[in-house]
Amino acid sequence: MTSTTQFRQGATIAIQDIQLQGALAGATAKFRAERAHALSELPDVEELRDHFKAIRSATLAKLGHHLETFQQNAEAAGAQVHWARDAAEAREIITGLAQQHGVTLATKSKSMTSEEIHLNQALEEAGIQPVETDLGEWIIQLAEEPPSHIIGPALHKTKEQVAELFSREAGKSLPPDDIPLLTAEARRMLRARFLEAGLGISGANIGVAETGSIVLVTNEGNGRMVTSTPPVHIALMGIEKIAPTWDDAAVWLALLARSATGQPLSVYTSIVTGPARAADTDGPQEVHIVLLDNGRSQLAGTEYEEVLQCIRCGACLNICPVYRSAGGHAYGSPYSGPIGAVISPLLFGLEKHEALPQASSLCGACLDVCPARIDLPRMLLALRGEEVEKGLLPWPERATEGSAAFVLGHEKLMRLVTQLMRWGQKPLAHNGRLRLPGRLNPAQERKLPALAEKSFRDMWRDGEI
Ligand code: SF4
Repeated sequence: MTSTTQFRQGATIAIQDIQLQGALAGATAKFRAERAHALSELPDVEELRDHFKAIRSATLAKLGHHLETFQQNAEAAGAQVHWARDAAEAREIITGLAQQHGVTLATKSKSMTSEEIHLNQALEEAGIQPVETDLGEWIIQLAEEPPSHIIGPALHKTKEQVAELFSREAGKSLPPDDIPLLTAEARRMLRARFLEAGLGISGANIGVAETGSIVLVTNEGNGRMVTSTPPVHIALMGIEKIAPTWDDAAVWLALLARSATGQPLSVYTSIVTGPARAADTDGPQEVHIVLLDNGRSQLAGTEYEEVLQCIRCGACLNICPVYRSAGGHAYGSPYSGPIGAVISPLLFGLEKHEALPQASSLCGACLDVCPARIDLPRMLLALRGEEVEKGLLPWPERATEGSAAFVLGHEKLMRLVTQLMRWGQKPLAHNGRLRLPGRLNPAQERKLPALAEKSFRDMWRDGEI
């Protein structure tokens, strides 16, 4: 839920939090620099992006066919495929499977889709303890907070805050400056959970239709522990994450880690094709794949279909001036930044997230960096149009915009109002800028220019230009 007031309050809190501003600036600058460097190493990156766009468009045009192929091949490899129309159905399937197997503890690798369906809460209500094993996800689970970035869920946390959380969990004091010790403690505490868990839950970065395999991209190795140590593995995958062939998946992988973290490939690229075979020394006895719709299929064939091409790399968050100031929590959704501003209203309801289409300067930087060249600014504008049609904007904005439209449509009135404003601004104008009181200018560091003494139109008429 993100009303305009809630977004503004969340953003204001974030902007005033100096520690958070430092963390956001540092992390996003690092991601941006490393992405730029990694892509510069590819000789044909623009052609590769065009090719990837073509693959994603063609795949979505025949999504039903590719999903059926994926299901057939996954089942032929021994996996069991489940279809979930919405979040409630996905939660029911997963908790049901866990209960059938008498699971009391489930380890999880990072999955934004599981955040989307609030899976942890459902597992806890069913008496199953979920343990996040991606370091960032585990930190925010211990802090009982939602993620603040698609690929760096705990990037808002300082090492002091992390040390405090780990100390509480370990039952002993851990120093914030000894990062290797902190990670070693995390590894020790999580390893015990890996061995105890009756179920491993993962997401899926890609589902490859031609073999029914899922691909998981991680940097910490926890994904492999989650998918191979417990006897049962459940993968939750959005239906749009399909690549028809391994050639298509290879293009996807060439762009994903480079766009996300600036790595040529993530440290671990794991492929799961069904459960363990007879000759395998380890691996799960059962693999279940839950294909989640949750509003995605309704976007097919609409002006918003393109958003399904997203591969959740996070590059648009790192470049966005709004995200870099407001941080992830202000968005009130697991998906933040420009992609969150488009996909949250589309998946969860425009009425619930009315603020998000406005949470953009429409500078176009997100389109520039997106590996799939997704035109987020176009869709933000389309959503804004829908908001106007549905009367969702707060009344002061509706009244202001309605009045502005009326004045701009009547030349004489516009001249009169402009002249009145020129006189009225005198007490507020200073060095060509307006010093407006707080509520009229929330971004205090940026001041509106004052109206010029003479308009362009008058200067033109008088031959001054
Ligand atoms: S919209 Fe593009 S840049 Fe943003 S997360 Fe998705 S794929 Fe990455």
